[in-house]
Amino acid sequence: MTITGGCLCGKVRYEITGQLYDASHCHCSMCRRQHGAAFATYADFNPDDFKWISGENKVKVYEKLSDDGWCFCSECGSSLAGTAKGKITSITLGTVEGDPGIKPESHIFVGSKARWHEINDDLPQFDEWPPDTWEPPSKAS
Ligand SMILES: [Zn+2]
Ligand SMILES: [Zn+2]
Repeated sequence: MTITGGCLCGKVRYEITGQLYDASHCHCSMCRRQHGAAFATYADFNPDDFKWISGENKVKVYEKLSDDGWCFCSECGSSLAGTAKGKITSITLGTVEGDPGIKPESHIFVGSKARWHEINDDLPQFDEWPPDTWEPPSKAS
């Protein structure tokens, strides 16, 4: 399956030629600030399956921690992808066009969620990262 998406101004576009897995809503204070929202929703993929198909020169990476960062469009500010150890490993589900073939499976970093936001679904909630023993349904299949 091929997944495509891009930023608000349309200059940056990406393609993922593979499955997405481990989709989660992250409530941490960094993602909240970076998105300007109650939480950010990401899904992971095999880094080898990802490529920018246009506007790569507009992509900026902001690394708050040495290991983790966010890729965003320097023109319109859209948050596009997450990095880990210098590799692009997750996509912001809100920038995917059409059906990404996956639905959110958990809430993470709920311990630092916004006080004004209430979680109203039955997905598993974790205070920080899920424990190693937890397998998202998308990974188990
Ligand atoms: Zn843009
Ligand atoms: Zn986060």
